[in-house]
Amino acid sequence: MAEAMIEFQNVTKQYQGGTPAVDDLTMSIDKAAITVFVGPSGCGKTTSLRMINRMVEPTSGSITVGGEDVTAGPAAKLRRSMGYVMQSSGLMPHRSVLDNIATVPRLNGVSKAEALKRAHELLDVVGLASALGKRYPSQLSGGQQQRVGVARALAADPPVLLMDEPFSAVDPVVRDELQQELLRLQRDLAKTIVFVTHDIDEATVLGDKVAVFGLGGKLAQYATPEEILRAPANDFVASFVGRDRGFRHLAFSPSDGVTVHPARTVTADELKLAGNDAAGWQLLVGHDLRPLGWSGPGMGSESVPGGSLFRKGDTLRRALDAALSSPSGLGVVVDEDGRVAGVITAEEVLAVIESDRHVRHGAL
Ligand code: ADP
Repeated sequence: MAEAMIEFQNVTKQYQGGTPAVDDLTMSIDKAAITVFVGPSGCGKTTSLRMINRMVEPTSGSITVGGEDVTAGPAAKLRRSMGYVMQSSGLMPHRSVLDNIATVPRLNGVSKAEALKRAHELLDVVGLASALGKRYPSQLSGGQQQRVGVARALAADPPVLLMDEPFSAVDPVVRDELQQELLRLQRDLAKTIVFVTHDIDEATVLGDKVAVFGLGGKLAQYATPEEILRAPANDFVASFVGRDRGFRHLAFSPSDGVTVHPARTVTADELKLAGNDAAGWQLLVGHDLRPLGWSGPGMGSESVPGGSLFRKGDTLRRALDAALSSPSGLGVVVDEDGRVAGVITAEEVLAVIESDRHVRHGAL
């Protein structure tokens, strides 16, 4: 079994008054491997990542790195001991590329000459020409800036590298290059890398292990990419995996076969008066019958925002998106005027997708 480097023990993060952003996360991250956190936006990936270097403090639970509790020493020191790469390269605009890369070694007390020498070497490591070192970040392409971001994160030779959607702002071709480059780097460096993305393809390309996060900040599955693709743990993972892979064709499939059910609606006044103690979800609507959110069992007069909306005639992909992004698991159907026309269920959308696929394969 692989050696653990980072361990989450019953970690929960609750921002002011909200539902948990991360809910009781327990997981062990392998040393010298790439672990990818993947899932739709808002399901707690970034929060989980940031708790590792204490940019965010957990509400409860504990995290250890290399066997040591992260709260054992000062947060600033911990932060400097890990590389961090984010989506916008986060480079300092008024400093040259070399100075940017040399920042953390300088903070750690390395001499200027030594730090610059190392920065030069790192340009080569991340595949950049040394002539670029004198430029300013704005004089580089997006892909080059991300490479500098990676070089900077590697500058102090940290054992742990945290990467938060580092490649999601560049075009697909460059993104592909950066992914391959990271894999090549990792073969030589063998860092413990935690990588956040919302793209399942990126997760399966990069990850030795993949953690799929679901609604409400819950870990839905944690396994190798092969296993996640072959045996998704539940419907949520199956649809999330399928949504960006085998289901791409859905964008071209009509949704005629999907049954629209009547919606249980409630107005804010009614909700205030009676609360929602009923078993089941109620769709909160305005007086004009436009959807405003969802009220769940036991939520009293509170409600939560809804997911994406579905219009009759939209594609199957939109139907699936609406159902999966909704807190109630019911996708909201609206008419041309934006008024609630009913709801659709994820199970039924998936069933239509299945039969659609059989028809396709049968026809081929
Ligand atoms: P992801 O990275 O999966 O998109 P995040 O970890 O960014 O998810 O967010 C998880 C949940 O926590 C979201 O509902 C988000 O709105 C909420 N959240 C994130 N950061 C903050 C914050 N600083 N204050 C309040 N809520 C936050």
